[in-house]
Amino acid sequence: MVMKQFQAESKRLLEMMINSIYTQKEIFLRELISNASDAIDKIYYKALTDDSLVFNKEDYFIKVTADKSARTLTLTDTGIGMTQEELENNLGVIAKSGSLAFKQQNEAKDGHNIIGQFGVGFYSAFMVADEVKVTTRALGSDQAYQWVSEGADGYVITPAEKASVGTEIVLRIKENTEDEQYDEFLEQYRLRAIIKKYSDFIRYPIKMDMTSQ
Ligand code: ADP
Ligand code: MG
Repeated sequence: MVMKQFQAESKRLLEMMINSIYTQKEIFLRELISNASDAIDKIYYKALTDDSLVFNKEDYFIKVTADKSARTLTLTDTGIGMTQEELENNLGVIAKSGSLAFKQQNEAKDGHNIIGQFGVGFYSAFMVADEVKVTTRALGSDQAYQWVSEGADGYVITPAEKASVGTEIVLRIKENTEDEQYDEFLEQYRLRAIIKKYSDFIRYPIKMDMTSQ
């Protein structure tokens, strides 16, 4: 297993996130849900031009699962997933915005806004998590990969198992400190309120699955 370093730019943004310069930590959920929605949009767009691909709306959703005793918050989507190369390029390098490139390619097709509102992105997960684990399987691939990082030191990518196409992101939620509260991000009512506040416009169902409540 080789620990890879983040690109310098990415590392700076990551450090800002780890030190939580943003007071509104809750927006991490908006960012991860918007990425999940973008990933489903990508299958939707592909299906417009690829006859072998049928987009059945009921197969596409986002799930949020909190486990208080394990201190994990898990986001699952049935979106397009990422190949090993995409994991490397999208989560290791901040300057490359996959959604932006995809949007430029597809903008002409219809009026859908694939990026949603501008945001701080995936690394915002590190505002509330001290470890982020992304397991993903790309559309058209049998092989899954896992990206794990505890922050600025770097990340590791390894082959993994995943039964279906899409992405699962497991956040290990930070422990409360004297100054900062994180437990709230494992509370159902709080998560519901954040989702309602920022992600009400998302076109796919957001399911909630609460264990250890
Ligand atoms: P942006 O969404 O503006 O491109 P982010 O930092 O939020 O930037 O995400 C970086 C990239 O990582 C995305 O463009 C996308 O390619 C990839 N990505 C993140 N989350 C997912 C996901 N759930 N499924 C597929 N790809 C993802
Ligand atoms: Mg994003």
